[in-house]
Amino acid sequence: MATIELNHVSKTYSGDVRAVREATLAFRDGEFIVLVGPSGCGKSTLLRMIAGLEAITGGTVAIGGRVVNDLPPKDRDVAMVFQNYALYPHMTVEKNMAFGLLRRRQHSGLSGLLFHGAERRAELAAIDRKVLDTARTLGIEPLLARLPRALSGGQRQRVALGRALVREPQVFLFDEPLSNLDARLRIEMRAEIRELHRRTKASMVYVTHDQEEAMTLADRMVVMKFGVVQQFGTPGECYARPANRFVAGFVGTPVMNFIDGRVDSGVFVSTDMRVLLPAGRWPRMPAGPATLGVRPDQLRVLHSADAGAGNTATDGTSVPATVRAIERLGDRMDVAVLIGGTRLTARIENDDRLMEGGSVLVHIGLGAAHLFAGGEDGARLADAHDGA
Ligand code: ADP
Repeated sequence: MATIELNHVSKTYSGDVRAVREATLAFRDGEFIVLVGPSGCGKSTLLRMIAGLEAITGGTVAIGGRVVNDLPPKDRDVAMVFQNYALYPHMTVEKNMAFGLLRRRQHSGLSGLLFHGAERRAELAAIDRKVLDTARTLGIEPLLARLPRALSGGQRQRVALGRALVREPQVFLFDEPLSNLDARLRIEMRAEIRELHRRTKASMVYVTHDQEEAMTLADRMVVMKFGVVQQFGTPGECYARPANRFVAGFVGTPVMNFIDGRVDSGVFVSTDMRVLLPAGRWPRMPAGPATLGVRPDQLRVLHSADAGAGNTATDGTSVPATVRAIERLGDRMDVAVLIGGTRLTARIENDDRLMEGGSVLVHIGLGAAHLFAGGEDGARLADAHDGA
């Protein structure tokens, strides 16, 4: 186990591709960190710089307090699990798992004079035991004699995990390890990796483009875009207090609704609506371009007959709208509504009375709403809930 400290870490590939820009982050001992962001945001590059598989252009990476910039991967005491398993096809599962340990033995320089006979047999027995124990933990003991080609995708991924586990490294690094698996298996393996972390308390850094995977696995997550860290925080913080509009739109499903407009004297005004902002909620808000962000579960869809009830709501505002599309999810439904030219998605309890094309009132709750400075990546404007 170890801390990981990144200090102004940057990576520029040839052709002036700035894959990672000045990442400064400190991961605690035993923390489960997830690097997350859309494809091309630089998360794999950052992970590979920690692993030593990619040269660092600027800044320092320290593992366990030691700067490792110039150390080759094998001397960093990290184990990496990849998306494509990278198992040796001609070796059995057992050999695949033992391989790293055997190789480490050879590299240690003891294999000549000091390491033979009874000592060597004891060492090999210890490796066997460790492989067997790990295989049991992962439920792959019956597969030990098989070759990788005789395994399913999920089984191969377990073997790849097992191979990393037996080495008992200071740090585990995962590069999209579940993206080749089908949805159901992915959720199952996700739970297993989380459980593995709970048991081993090892430091883990995990890369994924899937925000849901990040939210469910991470102690803390690093949200990236275009090589720049947008936010580093717990999943709860990133969800409830997104640093900017990008993070707000990236974290959570369905995606947050954004309404572009401007704020003036405590009123948010867009082309299609005027929303009176709760007094005191955004005390230091400057007048000017702004975006109102409302999650789909903060919207209610009311029938014209219920309109009176909607209007009496003290939190938020109600506006006439047309139902454009309904998606049934079983216990709930997603309803796309059109307010003038503004399309919003509401996630609500099932309501059989709603019909596509019908007229409704949409109540926009402001309890958990956010205001962002104008523009695509506008920063979230601090509100009175912050620090609470
Ligand atoms: P992610 O893992 O978030 O999808 P990457 O770290 O793989 O992103 O890539 C970040 C950026 O760096 C992308 O623009 C990608 O095209 C570029 N990149 C990655 N590897 C190389 C490379 N070996 N040479 C040049 N550019 C690269």
